[in-house]
Amino acid sequence: MSKFIGAHVSASGGVDNAPLNAMKIGAKAFALFTKNQRQWVAKPLETKTIDAFHRNLEASGILPKHILPHDSYLINLGHPEVEKLEKSRDAFVDELERCRILGLDRLNFHPGSHLVKVPKKDILYSDKIMDAELACLDVIAESLNRMIDETEGSDVKLVIENTAGQGSNLGYKFEHLAHIIDKVEDKSRVGVCIDTCHMFTAGYDIRTRETYDATWKAFDSMVGRQYLMGMHINDSKPKLGSRVDRHHSLGQGEIGWDTFGFIMKDKGMDDIPLVLETIDESIWSEEIRALYALAK
Ligand SMILES: [Zn+2]
Ligand SMILES: [Zn+2]
Repeated sequence: MSKFIGAHVSASGGVDNAPLNAMKIGAKAFALFTKNQRQWVAKPLETKTIDAFHRNLEASGILPKHILPHDSYLINLGHPEVEKLEKSRDAFVDELERCRILGLDRLNFHPGSHLVKVPKKDILYSDKIMDAELACLDVIAESLNRMIDETEGSDVKLVIENTAGQGSNLGYKFEHLAHIIDKVEDKSRVGVCIDTCHMFTAGYDIRTRETYDATWKAFDSMVGRQYLMGMHINDSKPKLGSRVDRHHSLGQGEIGWDTFGFIMKDKGMDDIPLVLETIDESIWSEEIRALYALAK
């Protein structure tokens, strides 16, 4: 078996509950928050929680490399204000440490936002926005270098997620991901997570064999498949190129089942966590079963 499929499961009541929740839906991979994602600080993980996490993980048979923790939504590693940028960097270092303590090897995050007001969709980008994007990408890369230095000796990889490009969120173009990676000094500590919904609403078509292959060919030449360390498997409510981030259940959105079949047969997605963030968790076990059937 080469595909490892799961969902972003709840860790409420403690991170040790996440592997149990994954088991319940027949997952062989999962994502989780290692702390409350809407708060800046969390108390350190207790030894008994860490031990229970490992016990439950062993019972689930899921390997650490098939777990893709997600950082807090409050963190913005490209924040234009120094004080808030520092707060984000500190919080991220703490999250990297939590992953290391749990024996996990990757942490998924959204690159960051420049927060310059984006003009309405029917107006072309002004030079001001373009400059803000470039400056922000450099700040993000600097954040990564700093945080890698601060966690020297750790093998937790910083996994950059592509975004839909809603608001001033960067990472919606492969060029953005490539730009950040290019400026990271220790490339052994960096990876990429591709979200199918974000990819699609950012304007990359993946609905037919031809468009799927062309999009991944572009990814491979601009970013490189060796950096792909996880995927979010979501259908999309909004249309191609809408730059709006709204997930849908598989087969019920604009992307459709053909694409998920292509992914399940794609060797480039072997041995990495493939994680559902679809909107109806009551059907996650069905969606996981359907994906495994497509992988056969
Ligand atoms: Zn995602
Ligand atoms: Zn999303």
